[in-house]
Amino acid sequence: MDECIFCKIINGKVPSEKVFESENFITIKDINQHPEGHSLVIPKKHFESFINLPENLYQEFVEATKKSIWKLEEEYDFEGFNLALNNGKVAGQIVPHMHLHILPRKRGDNFRFV
Ligand code: 5GP
Ligand code: ZN
Repeated sequence: MDECIFCKIINGKVPSEKVFESENFITIKDINQHPEGHSLVIPKKHFESFINLPENLYQEFVEATKKSIWKLEEEYDFEGFNLALNNGKVAGQIVPHMHLHILPRKRGDNFRFV
């Protein structure tokens, strides 16, 4: 997947700010820091959609997500968070490499979750 921006990040060809890493997942800060701390949990292998994620990675995916949230809690002061997984253009997926958005939330942050 030569053209995939997330594959390039995973291969170290494009810089990113790492939040957490496990054997098969990496969590990075989203380039768009809205809301503050906005991060992405990304499988290291290129799977286009959540539906393509192999079953043997389900547990690690959930664990990577929880550990990423704990890491973010050390850095940011937030009271809650949204998790979002856009699958397909019609659902707002722009980067065709599966990723889970972690969207830290606090009262009065004016963030509209779409
Ligand atoms: P999607 O709409 O596909 O669910 O979300 C793609 C996300 O990737 C967007 O929130 C966008 O800001 C983020 N993004 C796109 N290009 C880059 C990049 O080069 N680096 C980082 N860190 N995030 C990116
Ligand atoms: Zn990719």
